[in-house]
Order: sequence, then structure tokens, then C-alpha cells
Amino acid sequence: MSELENVTNMVNAANTENLLISEKADNPYMKEAINEALMGIKNNHGGPFGSVVVKDGIIVGRGHNRVLFNTDSTAHGEIMAIRDAEKNLGNYDLSGCTVYTTGEPCPMCLFALMWANVEKVYYGCTIADNSEIGFRDEKLDNMSGGREKFKDFLECIDREACLELFKAYKNMNHKIY
Ligand SMILES: [Zn+2]
Repeated sequence: MSELENVTNMVNAANTENLLISEKADNPYMKEAINEALMGIKNNHGGPFGSVVVKDGIIVGRGHNRVLFNTDSTAHGEIMAIRDAEKNLGNYDLSGCTVYTTGEPCPMCLFALMWANVEKVYYGCTIADNSEIGFRDEKLDNMSGGREKFKDFLECIDREACLELFKAYKNMNHKIY
């Protein structure tokens, strides 16, 4: 097999794998959030966290965790997606926007989403799931008073599909930060 064929086969295998995981999600925007996360973990940008911002049914911003790639502890998927959407819309006010994200937002992202006036956040894996794969969300969340107050703002969907994504990440044996 030639070098080119080899590379082409690798790319096709990666795309098929992406499709298999994201196709497990029922929500079309969550599929996109999962694809965004997969792109990030395959390029070793950071954790399995992808997000999209939706306005009037259209994706206006997207992002994935880039903590390792950017050497930036604040480069979480939601933050990257908020920045992308605000740049694209030319507006720091994301009123009327909904966010789909593969993991329940950490306290930093939760409040950033509120600063941006995002209307509602749909997440896949829970804070407890994030901790399962080694992230510190749950510890920080307990310090900031838990989730009860935000139950109208945050809603869990497509958790099974996002757990598949987390499993893929765990199997890749990445560095946890
Ligand atoms: Zn975060």
C-alpha cells in the first residue's frame, strides 16, 4: 500500500468512527457538538468537550476544548464556542441562542454562558461523568454550591452518545489536566 493510500485509509477510518459516535445522538446539534469534540481529541487539543451555539435553527458558533493546544486553562469548549459566535454575529449578547455541549458546563463556563445571555444549555455527559474520566469539575462544582439553582437553564440530552465519546477519549489515554 502506498503512503497516500495509507493516509487516505486512516482519514476514512477516523471519519467513519466520528460518524458512528455522533450518529448515536438524536439531536442534530448534539451530533455537531460531538463531531467538534472528536476533532479536538484526535488533534490532541484537549478534553472531549465540543460545543455549538444555535440561533434560529442555525449554528452560529462552534468550539472545542483547546486547553493543551493553546496552553490556556480557560480554553474550554463552551468558551471557544461563545467567542466564535460573538465574533460571527458581531455581538457580545447571545440572547435567543441555545448551546449544545458534550459535557455539563463547569462553573466557569456556566457563568460565562449566563454573561453571554444564552437562553438554554443542553449537555450530554453530567458533571459526575466528567469526573469519571479524570476532570475536576465535580470538586469545583461542590465548592461553588451545586446545580439545583440552574435546573431551568441546564438540560441533559443524548447522554449515551456523549458517554461513547468519553469512552473513546479514555481509550486514547490522554493526559488529564
Ligand atoms: Zn468549562
